[in-house]
Amino acid sequence: MERWQNILELIKNTINPQSYDTWFAPIKFISLDDKKIILEVENNFVSDWIQQNYVELIKTKAEHALNYPIDVVVKVKESPSENVTIPPSMYRTGSFRPDYLNSRYVFDNFVVGNSNQFACSAAKAVSEAPGKTKFNPLLIYGGAGLGKTHLIQAIGHTVLINNKNARVYYTTSEQFTFDFIESIKNNKITELSNFYRNADVLLMDDIQFFIGRERTQEEFFHIFNTLYQNQKQIVLTSDRSPKDLQGMEERLVSRFQWGLFVDIQPPDKETRIAIILKKTEAEKLNIPSEVVQYIADNVSSNIREIEGSIIKLMAFSSLTKNDISLDLAKQILKENMSNGIKKRVSVDVIIETVSKFYGVPENAIRGKTRSKEIVLPRMISMFLTKQLTNYSLKTIGLQFGGRDHSTVIHAIGTVEEKLSTDDVFQKEMEAIKKQLNIA
Ligand code: ADP
Ligand code: MG
Repeated sequence: MERWQNILELIKNTINPQSYDTWFAPIKFISLDDKKIILEVENNFVSDWIQQNYVELIKTKAEHALNYPIDVVVKVKESPSENVTIPPSMYRTGSFRPDYLNSRYVFDNFVVGNSNQFACSAAKAVSEAPGKTKFNPLLIYGGAGLGKTHLIQAIGHTVLINNKNARVYYTTSEQFTFDFIESIKNNKITELSNFYRNADVLLMDDIQFFIGRERTQEEFFHIFNTLYQNQKQIVLTSDRSPKDLQGMEERLVSRFQWGLFVDIQPPDKETRIAIILKKTEAEKLNIPSEVVQYIADNVSSNIREIEGSIIKLMAFSSLTKNDISLDLAKQILKENMSNGIKKRVSVDVIIETVSKFYGVPENAIRGKTRSKEIVLPRMISMFLTKQLTNYSLKTIGLQFGGRDHSTVIHAIGTVEEKLSTDDVFQKEMEAIKKQLNIA
């Protein structure tokens, strides 16, 4: 407890008093040992917010105070009413365990507008008659935060509602790749392969991660063929269009053509408003319509960012018991709002986008590793964070493995230099910006 107080003191000296009072003062200290510090907060909003913005800070300060490396765990206070049940078929022991479906990602929570209606109808059709429509495989593609994961998981939910024994396997190509590598090490390729071949519905999220990974693609190709022949449903998502999936094996891409490609576009204003209303309603957050307008006009079209703004308002109003007026909203969301393109994008989205683009794990970009595949993506992430947010060099360094500001300056210099001399790199940067919806 005392040591936590010491850590808090250190944090207090680095951030402004208002943020401190809002986010740190209410944290409940649970425990601290030589591996991790466990903290508890009131609700998911606060937890998300701390995860997104302050975990690195807490970690850095804790390590400073304690003098040893430590993990920070932020738990949400348990509320007895919350009782999420996972369909039995989603359980899986052993090494290749597909992820659970997120209970929020259902069709009922998905707001349909011009930008996504085709994708949503196709997803619904597939979910009602998996393997029986012409949409096999179904490939949904579009930029970050536009609802691909939500849709692909909604398919899983509906299939399971209609048939609780269906074998619905959701996984990301990243997870699949790791499992594949793991199974090579442990001589378990046959098990992995049999496991996936046994699916009734295979939901493979973010297939762009397969790019450049030939052996994993090869394995996936065989699984794909078996499932397809057995008329099992395959659904894929990708952050880029099939023609931009360079580095993906031709025969795999051509298999995708057997089914249907649908894209999701950034939502128009009307849809943005509908999404904001849906989210505020779900969270029982009462905000005046001028605030809804304000968010719709100013936050980027990435829906994850829209949610982030609402979470922020929500946390603020629940912690301070203040109603949200337009003035207050402007103040609270100042950092999320755009002046030109500034502040349209958060560090999380930048890291997510860059990590997907280069097919490297997000953690690695945020971390300390100096391995060659990570260094450039990390530099690019730092460069974009400087360009697109108002963070200081020091804060940026903190978000990328606790580096100091001179490292950030060096990274920005390197990227600028490369941009002026390397055409291919320039194109890559344009593609990344396009995915961030800012080009
Ligand atoms: P992607 O996988 O395309 O990066 P996600 O599916 O993770 O995006 O969506 C980001 C967030 O936005 C999720 O919390 C999701 O629930 C929400 N979201 C996306 N599209 C919609 C929509 N049309 N209606 C409601 N929420 C949405
Ligand atoms: Mg996704």
